[in-house]
Amino acid sequence: MMEDRVNKKFSTESVVIALTKGRILREVLPLFASAGIVPLEDITKSRKLIFDTNLPNLRLMIIRGVDVPTYVEFGSADLGIVGKDVLVEYGEERFYEPLDLKLAQCRLMTAQPCFSVGDVGKSHRARVRVATKFTRIASEYYASRGEQVDLVKLNGALELAPSLGLADVIVDIVDSGMTLRANGLEAKEVVLEVSSRVIVNKGSMKIKNQSIREILTQLSKAVGSN
Ligand code: ADP
Ligand code: MG
Repeated sequence: MMEDRVNKKFSTESVVIALTKGRILREVLPLFASAGIVPLEDITKSRKLIFDTNLPNLRLMIIRGVDVPTYVEFGSADLGIVGKDVLVEYGEERFYEPLDLKLAQCRLMTAQPCFSVGDVGKSHRARVRVATKFTRIASEYYASRGEQVDLVKLNGALELAPSLGLADVIVDIVDSGMTLRANGLEAKEVVLEVSSRVIVNKGSMKIKNQSIREILTQLSKAVGSN
């Protein structure tokens, strides 16, 4: 008799999903709604960091993208939604990655000044210097091509680095390319195709298998009908 009252679609294990705030969150919330997962208050208008949902055992955490893999790896969140760029930089082998949500699509690309004549800085350097937020991805990319470069880690405003002589090349997210052009740069090579992925803590996948499977099934149906 008790079993009849249990919601068959989502079972009773407590599950936390860590969402990347900003662009990914704005694109993911409508997908979650079509998967039947709705926060109980307006996330975009609240200053809270964790939210109850219409499903009694499911909560959503809203954090910076770079922190999502950390919370999921240590099991504070069971699932996470994160850009493939952030995931590969952190170490994708540490998670299960069962679903590509195909949202927040962009590319990680190399970019350099449109005109290299009179390029300040480049001539006096023995090796090409590359500025990026994604040093691990960039270092693997250049190693795979057999190119030796010097990497410089920056956290923002990468487009400025070439004109100020800090770097010859940048590896950065490119969407329309407008920001690059506005700074006299052009995109060259694709390093990584990026979209939002669902990651799962490996222990949670075992312990909370039924709940997680149900959530993944609902999300993948929603992706399919998107
Ligand atoms: P932060 O400001 O914390 O670096 P962003 O909101 O800029 O975060 O980016 C978060 C994620 O959104 C990135 O990891 C990437 O996967 C994706 N993303 C970033 N820029 C774009 C873009 N222009 N178009 C589509 N997706 C993007
Ligand atoms: Mg940003």
